[in-house]
Amino acid sequence: MTKFIFVTGGVVSSLGKGLAASSLAAVLQARGFKVRLRKLDPYLNVDPGTMSPYQHGEVFVTDDGTEADLDLGHYERFTGVSSTHSDSITTGKIYSTVLAKERRGDYLGATVQVVPHIIDEIKSFVTNDITDEDFIICEIGGTVGDIESLPFLETIRQLGNDLGRDNVLYIHVTLLPYIAAAGEIKTKPTQHSVKELLSVGIQPDILLCRSERPIPEEARRKLGLFCNVKAERVIEASDLKSIYEAPLVYHANGLDGEVCKYFKIEAKQPDLTVWTEIVHRIYEPAGMVTIAIVGKYVQLLDAYKSLIQSLIHAGIANNVKANLKWVDSEQADSVSDQLKGAQAILVPGGFGERGVNGKLEAIKFARENKIPYFGICFGMQLAVLETVRNVLGLTEANSTELGQHTPEPVIGLMTEWMDGQTLQKRQLNGDMGGTMRLGAYDCNLDKDSKVAEIYGMTTISERHRHRYEVNPAYIDRIEAAGLKFVGMSPEGDLPEIIELQDHPWFIGVQFHPEFKSRPFSPHPLFVDFVKAALDQFSKKG
Ligand code: GLN
Repeated sequence: MTKFIFVTGGVVSSLGKGLAASSLAAVLQARGFKVRLRKLDPYLNVDPGTMSPYQHGEVFVTDDGTEADLDLGHYERFTGVSSTHSDSITTGKIYSTVLAKERRGDYLGATVQVVPHIIDEIKSFVTNDITDEDFIICEIGGTVGDIESLPFLETIRQLGNDLGRDNVLYIHVTLLPYIAAAGEIKTKPTQHSVKELLSVGIQPDILLCRSERPIPEEARRKLGLFCNVKAERVIEASDLKSIYEAPLVYHANGLDGEVCKYFKIEAKQPDLTVWTEIVHRIYEPAGMVTIAIVGKYVQLLDAYKSLIQSLIHAGIANNVKANLKWVDSEQADSVSDQLKGAQAILVPGGFGERGVNGKLEAIKFARENKIPYFGICFGMQLAVLETVRNVLGLTEANSTELGQHTPEPVIGLMTEWMDGQTLQKRQLNGDMGGTMRLGAYDCNLDKDSKVAEIYGMTTISERHRHRYEVNPAYIDRIEAAGLKFVGMSPEGDLPEIIELQDHPWFIGVQFHPEFKSRPFSPHPLFVDFVKAALDQFSKKG
């Protein structure tokens, strides 16, 4: 039977529960188990798709087009298992489902209540869509004690009874702060947090303790005693230089061993060779490459989580450290100054008008100075716009996202397109939530293109999240200016990839390759981009 591991967090937020859950999953996988990770988010938004990156960081997109919490990105990067809509749930989604059922009359006259209706809906989500997984690791967002997470905690408490305590394990991730004045690591906040959990009927089985410093034996013994957890199940999780070291460290500290013991599972030792090799390459790179990223959310790097990881992965593949230079696109005056010293330039996805001029400036700089350029989604659309304005001379050209009444709508809202056999339709003033072109779409590549060579194939599938598209009416003119459309949707109606001729590396993609890069299988476009940056350097250097 599938075993369930529920991961809660206490004391403070941002403890890295997602990374902890992912790392545990990676080690269990390395022991030969089949794992799947899930996230329960307590907020009322139906999904994070409508939230600002400043609120929530990156919106991660799955193959099936679910807009999800960025922790799902960690899940995929640590396990390689593709997440689906079944792996991401929010209070908003649960309530919408329950309310829709109520309107349909499904509750047959009952008073609809949090207990049992909301709880039952969460339960069915947690236990739904499971085949032969050995473990479901389910992370509960937020911190124990938050009003909003109560229904989720009640659900996992009830599941302990429903599924049997020998099939359910509770891990509580907490913080042990170091108080310099006392020269001590403090256990009291964790004790209180466990009390809070106990007050909703959950006795944690394992405490995973985040700490800046090694945890003395005495503190572990004390925590075990006060929190009713065996001392060997108080596991240290101290800060690491690279997140990819966590599977190795957790294993060394006994986390997966205790999980197996709890469930009375005989398991082989994990084979962690891949992780050892990844960490070795991160800690001992043979060189460095500097890549400028020009974006508007540079104050909150969580907005670029998958992008940053993809560049780290590409660094690993090229045996170099990727040194990322963040350039604020809203400082348009100084963008080209800030780009000095960069061996390559990347403009990532983005929305809205703020900072557009800085991005266009950076793209022009890359094009004219033959510096490797990678444009992702908005970064591809703006590269097209830059060529149309500055090479074709259509200075009034724009994206309708940035100016609805432009005489030259080079980028526009797609109101109709074919998705396989289905006609997709969108309205100008329609809902914002869940209405972008989302998830995996196939794309056909020109067989003579650079991208076909990089991918080593001519049909690819990549994840999308955008509302606007390059207007096909301009394709011929843009191609005449040297910017070739080398990737198109299978129906041939949607431009997907551009490549600039007579330039060492200038590629724009309408999709988000960063969602599919893994440390153990880096994305080919990022790997080649970093390689181009290095080649550039050796040529100049
Ligand atoms: N704002 C653009 C669009 O909606 C690009 C989106 C993105 O970069 N993800 O099409």
